[in-house]
Amino acid sequence: MTTIDTVAAPPLGGPSLPQERRLVTSIPGPRSQELLARKSAAVAAGVGHTAPIEAVAAGGGVIVDADGNSLIDLGSGIAVTTVGNAHPKVVAAVQAQVAQFTHTCFMISPYDSYVSVAEALNRITPGDHEKKSALFNSGAEAVENAIKIARKFTKKQAVVAFDHGYHGRTNLTMALTAKAMPYKSGFGPFAGEIYRAPLSYPFRDGLSGADAAKKAISVIEKQVGADNLAAVIIEPIQGEGGFIVPADGFLPALVEWCRQNGVVFIADEIQTGFARTGAMFASELFGIVPDLITTAKGIAGGLPLAAVTGRAEIMDASHAGGLGGTYGGNPVACAAAVASIDVFEHEGLIERAQQVGAILTGRLTALQAEDPRLGDVRGHGAMIAAEFVNAQTGEPDAALTAAVAKSCIAEGVIVLTCGTYGNVIRFLPPLSIPDALLHEGLDVVAAALASA
Ligand SMILES: *Cc1c(COP(=O)(O)O)cnc(C)c1O
Repeated sequence: MTTIDTVAAPPLGGPSLPQERRLVTSIPGPRSQELLARKSAAVAAGVGHTAPIEAVAAGGGVIVDADGNSLIDLGSGIAVTTVGNAHPKVVAAVQAQVAQFTHTCFMISPYDSYVSVAEALNRITPGDHEKKSALFNSGAEAVENAIKIARKFTKKQAVVAFDHGYHGRTNLTMALTAKAMPYKSGFGPFAGEIYRAPLSYPFRDGLSGADAAKKAISVIEKQVGADNLAAVIIEPIQGEGGFIVPADGFLPALVEWCRQNGVVFIADEIQTGFARTGAMFASELFGIVPDLITTAKGIAGGLPLAAVTGRAEIMDASHAGGLGGTYGGNPVACAAAVASIDVFEHEGLIERAQQVGAILTGRLTALQAEDPRLGDVRGHGAMIAAEFVNAQTGEPDAALTAAVAKSCIAEGVIVLTCGTYGNVIRFLPPLSIPDALLHEGLDVVAAALASA
């Protein structure tokens, strides 16, 4: 573990809510229960929820519910509110834009903020080659468009995704996503020409990066063939799949193979992007320069926005009118993104993510030393996972994981689970969380594990 001097969290985020865990009712309290009853009557059953609360305010490191409980937020709405919830600069930019105009459709009447977001993405994404960007509404939509662009450019069709990969819930992205339950079961048929290769998963495969890459490339060459392959898409660190960090050398070998074989390498940085991993983009941690990169989640401080950014010659392969959408690059979301990117670049958030990572890793590895059920602690920056196993067999322990997560939420700490085997708790705090609150959240996790 790298030692980093503890520095106070930057003065970031939201309404000036007291930065404390405060439980004034059991979770859920009566008002939250009322909303949840209305939810189950009015909202489709397929739309689940993790924390049974009615959120009414959020900022710094807390989410406040309708009953007056203040919960520690270790999830950032799935790595979205990285700059902090309702960051003052984001709020000001959104308020100014929403009073000016809310929509023209960029494909009808272009505006500055869309172009400014594209310019910023072209500048801050890895590589100093000429780049272009296109904006969309959601991560899944960005992934769909990256695949469209790669197919158009290469005039090939096949796409390779990886074991444990997650790329979204639309039809093409369900095909790319690995896990059947809950993402795919019953929702087929899925898009064609999608193939799956084995990932480097050091905790479970024990392979070096080079050997894992050899194995993946062999599957790709034998089962797909470079002549048919338009793109390889991979999360540099897997998100939903369990924060799996590939062994050193795995990603560079894949990029190299793609270069030699006329295959577009797409890094899906929707979860890992924007300072989350202690680098602006996780690709930098592995020394790779993707041809295309998809972004969303952290990009706009909570407003819906997504992008594909990449080599200009690839991005320009599509005829005019082939890319876009009614809302893609909405001016309010773009104003929020311009403000958020300014915060990422100028408020020390990369360093803050490294500090948060050092706290998380330090606390969790100390816990692991005392408890063999905590099989693996991994990740980078403010994207750290704890994988829970049966202490005797090393088998994934989803029941233990669910029990720990449930009791954390009951005690006022929002944690998210993930992993193909459902046995990972992922820590994705907003970077505006004060250190003391992060420590308190981890105290609650430790107590939940001890009593599980
Ligand atoms: C969340 C996520 C997506 C899908 O993004 P949505 O905005 O939910 O459509 C795609 N890829 C990765 C890596 C993600 O984490």
